[in-house]
Amino acid sequence: MASSSESPSPYARTLDCVHCGLCLPYCPTHQVLGVEADSPRGRIYLMRALAEGRVQDPTAIRPFLDRCLDCRACETACPSGVKYGEILEDTKARLERDRPQRGLRAFLVRFLLWHVVARQRRLRVLFAVLRLLEITGLRWLATKLRVVPAAIAKLAPPVPPAIERSPLPTGEHHPPATVARRGERVALFTGCIMEPMFGRVHRATLQVLLANGFQVVVPAAQRCCGALLVHAGQPDRARELARANVRAFADVDVVLNNSAGCGCAMKEYGHLLGDADGAAFAAKCRDISEFLAERGLSTAPAECRARAAYDDPCHLCHGQGVRSQPRQLLAQVPGLELVAHDKPEDCCGSAGIYNLLQPELAGEIGRKKIESLARAGVDLVLTGNPGCMLQIDSHLRAAGHKVRVRHPIELLVPPQ
Ligand code: SF4
Ligand code: SF4
Repeated sequence: MASSSESPSPYARTLDCVHCGLCLPYCPTHQVLGVEADSPRGRIYLMRALAEGRVQDPTAIRPFLDRCLDCRACETACPSGVKYGEILEDTKARLERDRPQRGLRAFLVRFLLWHVVARQRRLRVLFAVLRLLEITGLRWLATKLRVVPAAIAKLAPPVPPAIERSPLPTGEHHPPATVARRGERVALFTGCIMEPMFGRVHRATLQVLLANGFQVVVPAAQRCCGALLVHAGQPDRARELARANVRAFADVDVVLNNSAGCGCAMKEYGHLLGDADGAAFAAKCRDISEFLAERGLSTAPAECRARAAYDDPCHLCHGQGVRSQPRQLLAQVPGLELVAHDKPEDCCGSAGIYNLLQPELAGEIGRKKIESLARAGVDLVLTGNPGCMLQIDSHLRAAGHKVRVRHPIELLVPPQ
């Protein structure tokens, strides 16, 4: 059935599905489209048929798989423990290998993921160019002339100035002399998009760790986590990045992540690499909220007077099972009123570059999220993934809401 490079076989895992349909109400694409083939059960049926050789034209099932956000809400809902994400990613890899997508769009996606996103220096250059286009007014012109599709232009927030995009210094960072040391050395993963768009989140993460007595190392040799390549059906390229990360973080016991998507992918290196090194690396990975909630804050955060809602990134709640820890930490922020909203675990429609590839469906899913947040009447939304921060922020702006979006770690910074 499957090749050895994608073992264990996705086919065996499709057999775990008993077709009960309990996952259907939780699937964002099924909620919007109401089509069985755009539900987890329908997609598993199609992937099983493909693995059994019952699909005459394998490319016919691709649109249904491409419309899947890989949000894993179906995994949380499934009583049979179906590993939907692994089935999807293995099937996409198989399709991409046997029937690679052709055309300009497919070429551009492959080029962007491997030659730009996976290479931090080129990504920095790209963002410097985008910033230049903005300050010269050319971005506005490109949008007006529809050089950039309207759906994409609407999503893109302003690029931060150079000072905010500057990378964290690599190497060792020591807590200030005034802080009691915990005697633990941790490593920080910096990823791809987080640095140019949310450099402030990295700086806040470092500040919080140092203020709480941890020694922090930022390894210079780290690479992109490879999540977007896995989602795009290119596990071989993702493995290359994963192996580089296993080497880069070899001398630390804890690898911390402030991006839910990257953290989830790195916790799955055991499956991706299929060896002991990958599994050992995965066991060292923690989301920053998971780690700080486990160890406890020794320095109180600064006061923040706001009514806020925490929104669970899919790859944190469904992918990593991390739900209570960010809320537990935010409850310690003086002045913060943390309120619940209706749909904290529903996908916001970001899903890596899904909102660029499927703008209409992502827009529909994003609007549902904003409606839920608007009903809660908050002035601050907190979520721990860069894609979710961008998607929620763009939809809030588009709907005319003056609501700020922040990463939870930004609220844990002690008073200056
Ligand atoms: S991963 Fe998300 S979008 Fe895909 S089938 Fe499961 S619930 Fe639906
Ligand atoms: S994936 Fe799980 S919940 Fe969904 S139909 Fe199959 S067994 Fe039922």
